Amino acid sequence: EMFGQLSTGLEAAWSKLRGQEVLTKDNIAEPMRDIRRALLEADVSLPVVRRFVQSVTDQAVGVGLIRGVKPDQQLVKIVRDELVKLMGLQGVGKTTVSAKLAFYLKKLGKSCMLVAGDVYRPAAIDQLVILGQQVDVPVYTASTDVKPSEIAKQGLAEAKKKNLDVVIVDTAGRLQIDKAMMDELKDVKRAVNPTEILLVVDAMTGQEAAALVTTFNLEVGITGAILTKLDGDSRGGAALSVKEVSGKPIKLVGRGERMEDLEPFYPDRMAGRILGMGDVLSFVEKAQEVMQQEDAEKLQKKIMSANFDFNDFLKQTRAVAQMGSVSRVIGMIPGMAKVTPAQIREAEKSLKIMEGMIEAMTPEEREKPELLAESPERRKRIAKDSGKTEQQVSQLVAQLFQMRVRMKNLMGAMEGGSIPALGN
Ligand code: GDP
Repeated sequence: EMFGQLSTGLEAAWSKLRGQEVLTKDNIAEPMRDIRRALLEADVSLPVVRRFVQSVTDQAVGVGLIRGVKPDQQLVKIVRDELVKLMGLQGVGKTTVSAKLAFYLKKLGKSCMLVAGDVYRPAAIDQLVILGQQVDVPVYTASTDVKPSEIAKQGLAEAKKKNLDVVIVDTAGRLQIDKAMMDELKDVKRAVNPTEILLVVDAMTGQEAAALVTTFNLEVGITGAILTKLDGDSRGGAALSVKEVSGKPIKLVGRGERMEDLEPFYPDRMAGRILGMGDVLSFVEKAQEVMQQEDAEKLQKKIMSANFDFNDFLKQTRAVAQMGSVSRVIGMIPGMAKVTPAQIREAEKSLKIMEGMIEAMTPEEREKPELLAESPERRKRIAKDSGKTEQQVSQLVAQLFQMRVRMKNLMGAMEGGSIPALGN
């Protein structure tokens, strides 16, 4: 069904490129609209469609034409490759998360065992075994005709024998909620009496996540959620839904496909990201994981040594822009749902204004904001070049110095703190 509609839509797109010599931004605009429509009609969610179209457009315009390959054929190939990627990404990320979690806990000094309890997707078992090898954590498997509750029980017994600290059971889970699956999950719960029941939610599902979380929480009772694919173009609706409809916290977030791409969820850091500071925190934390304590301290000192300049400022406002629009980011923060669209537009506008002013600075001024603090002439020139008022430039300079102070405080608060364990 999905493919039927899709191919008709794609057909229309190709036909518009016949007779063209090259792929340009202009001549693919209309075919891309057809592709977009076809995907939406096939019920692919809007953020996914946007990302898809963007990625195809970038590739199509970016590549030189291969001799002997017609533009429409080339676009077909790009679209096909992207479709394959899209299909490959349809799971919410449950199995991946199980292994990531084992890896995460291992880094905290806990010994783990993974249990392959998703017997309905045979590939899930193989996948877990491979990931388990990758992170060097034992995986307990049984044949697919054994009941998941039984597999969980056996896995737990095995882990107890080995004196392991944590057992992570990868269970079945589908977006289409049915009674059989719920009963099975309840059986697993009864069989092993878990300390944590974590629902894995794909951040891309947006507000649809609300129904999922509500049902799982009422039926099985969850202790929290893990949000995956936060690195993608998510609307952030899922993050809000989880807390709102279940009252249960998001404990961890997935930000990529690699095993190390699992992080604790900090609502305050999300807020920090809007101010452009979150990435520094994440960076320092990542650095702490790989660096000797001594080096990590040196790095912290450097950041704290009031060297934060307009280049950093710019980098961070751009990082915010990269995460999608500010409105989406704001939407991810529990408790910030009541920000009005007008306020969001205001925030987005002021980011743009700041960027314009920083772009009008000389490299030297960007590195030494003191120059601007000391010289009204310089501020006047920047105001003129960026089309802003002198007052706006002064405000920006003041903001940078405030930010330095705030950075210092944040870094201070972080000092000595490590990654909190699950459940904190
Ligand atoms: P399952 O069917 O729910 O068990 O899903 P999988 O664990 O097989 O994951 C489906 C796909 O999503 C895989 O290709 C994963 O690599 C990918 N994936 C999982 N988590 C993330 C994430 O946080 N970010 C990104 N970009 N991809 C992820």
